Amino acid sequence: MALRNITVKGDEILTKKCKTIKAITPRIRVLAEDMVETMLAADGVGIAAPQVGVMKRMFVAMPHVESGDESIRNKIYYMINPEITYREGTQESSEGCLSVPGYMGLVDRPEKIRIKATDLDGNEQEYEFEGFEATVFCHEYDHLDGILYSDIAKEMMTAEEYAKRLEEVKNEHAGEEAANE
Ligand SMILES: [Zn+2]
Repeated sequence: MALRNITVKGDEILTKKCKTIKAITPRIRVLAEDMVETMLAADGVGIAAPQVGVMKRMFVAMPHVESGDESIRNKIYYMINPEITYREGTQESSEGCLSVPGYMGLVDRPEKIRIKATDLDGNEQEYEFEGFEATVFCHEYDHLDGILYSDIAKEMMTAEEYAKRLEEVKNEHAGEEAANE
């Protein structure tokens, strides 16, 4: 396995529609494992092929960051030629992206999705996700169509501004709790 360079906003490849993968060749498997290594090294929860400079419809994701169960938390999804088959509801998601370093944004995403994809063994799988997990899969899926979250965000801010805002929300809630007592 090897680390790959992460493409950043401004690179044309991030604006292109990626190509369907016709066969899961050894090269595709190596790419998938390199993507996992690159994602983990960058502390991300997902990465799409165009983010490592490859215009193919594949992403990997490790979205169960909040699970108390280690085996679930470490589960990696390999999504080849994914397709979102169902969307339900809306949620506001706070997102960042390895290709848009230093920023965060607020994006409206579906609350619940179903997504089907081929896994690394060539089997078609269908998954259902909601909440944070659903946002991860929508975000990565968009990369395959050349869409960055910053293109569709209703608000963008720097990582510092975002941290400050989180702190404010926390303080407000602390105030509310105190008032309720
Ligand atoms: Zn991204």
